[in-house]
Amino acid sequence: MAPTCWDVLVAGGGPAGSLTAYHLAKAGLRVAVFDLGKFPRTKACGGGVQVRTQEAIPFDWRSVIRASISSAEFTCNFGRRFVRGYRDPLVHCVLRSEFDNFLMERAVEAGAKLFEGVRVLHAEQDALGARVETSAGRFSARYVIGADGANSIVSRALNARSDFFWQAAVYVELPIDCIRLERVRLDRLRVDWGTLTSGYAWVFPKGDMVNIGAGCPAQLARSLKSYLKTFLETEGLLSQPVRETLRVQGHQLPTMTPRTTVARGHVLLVGDAAGFVEPLTGEGISYACHGARLLARTLLNKFGDHTLAECYREAVRATIGHELRWARRLLSFGTSFPNLFYWAFEHSEEVWHTFCRVLRGEDTFEGLRKKILGPFAFLGAPLDFLVRRIERSRLIQPQPSAPWS
Ligand SMILES: Cc1cc2nc3c(=O)[nH]c(=O)nc-3n(C[C@H](O)[C@H](O)[C@H](O)COP(=O)(O)OP(=O)(O)OC[C@H]3O[C@@H](n4cnc5c(N)ncnc54)[C@H](O)[C@@H]3O)c2cc1C
Repeated sequence: MAPTCWDVLVAGGGPAGSLTAYHLAKAGLRVAVFDLGKFPRTKACGGGVQVRTQEAIPFDWRSVIRASISSAEFTCNFGRRFVRGYRDPLVHCVLRSEFDNFLMERAVEAGAKLFEGVRVLHAEQDALGARVETSAGRFSARYVIGADGANSIVSRALNARSDFFWQAAVYVELPIDCIRLERVRLDRLRVDWGTLTSGYAWVFPKGDMVNIGAGCPAQLARSLKSYLKTFLETEGLLSQPVRETLRVQGHQLPTMTPRTTVARGHVLLVGDAAGFVEPLTGEGISYACHGARLLARTLLNKFGDHTLAECYREAVRATIGHELRWARRLLSFGTSFPNLFYWAFEHSEEVWHTFCRVLRGEDTFEGLRKKILGPFAFLGAPLDFLVRRIERSRLIQPQPSAPWS
């Protein structure tokens, strides 16, 4: 019998919401999770789970890994081609329908109550706790957690859209018989960059399915679908000509900035809702999972304490926020000096290996920046200032005249 009185309400049952619910329910709190979808539900995503995620998932999830990849083939604007490999896996490929369902099942097993097909319409707080208005009625608890993704309703109580840095991504996920297997290796990622001023296209193999997509800063988003189509055609990835009916989906992706508020009073954010998307690769699953653990730990330590929101803000700033800031600087650098950036990945063992260690959670974006900039890394703030200005001017330039335009 589900309780009618809750300690914590979680809006959204993606990795951030289900794992937060798992940790809290396991510790004995009464937790309700609301998701507008019915599980197993799909989610627009590449499904590339960086190996660094492993340490933030406290149970065995190998059964939903469809491929573990340790190498990637790169092209630069469909031209210069090179392959890079590593001794250990870098990315586990999952189907989000399977992965998210698996995490949610663990949360429910731990004691969380899932309300499926229920939309959160509004969240607010009062002196004692928080309330959410949903399509299934009104609920109250001590805390409400916004884990409702990139277009979070809960986040709107704390942030304006301009408090985040926005990118966008689109994808298609196809059965393997739609793919020309002589063009796609099932044990290797495929990446094209340098075609748009910033951003890249990918192929993530997943056993009997293949995920193909593209992402870039929001300023260039209108070129995304045609870039993806050109990627499919130029690389000859599909066994039939690209059809107009191909179901391309996606959405915008927020990265936190110094203006973002991840918690206030009884309202706390995690995952995409908090802007935990790493901007260089556009990945958000690992930070959703790490964020869930951080939030649950803080909440369990400070439950009922008026310093809870402040402690969580500080913990995010010092860990996830720190990493995302360095990744954002690297993205600016790559957008401003793309050839130098690609050259470093292609030719420098140190840069490539550091990047691989970052994906595995063994190194940091700060360390990667040092490796890429070499003796110029000490320039710090002045270099960042210059790079940001160049980036801004490049992002408003028309995109290179391309076969799709
Ligand atoms: C095209 C694309 C490709 C991507 N590829 C990758 C990748 O390869 N690797 C990677 O790490 N990241 C990738 N990302 C980012 C990744 O998908 C997100 O960072 C990740 O899903 C964040 O998890 P989350 O739990 O915070 O949010 P989500 O996974 O978005 O979950 C939010 C949940 O909230 C629910 N919800 C939303 N609004 C409401 C509401 N009002 N009421 C109730 N429920 C609600 C949704 O149904 C959903 O289940 C990609 C994103 C896109 C768009």
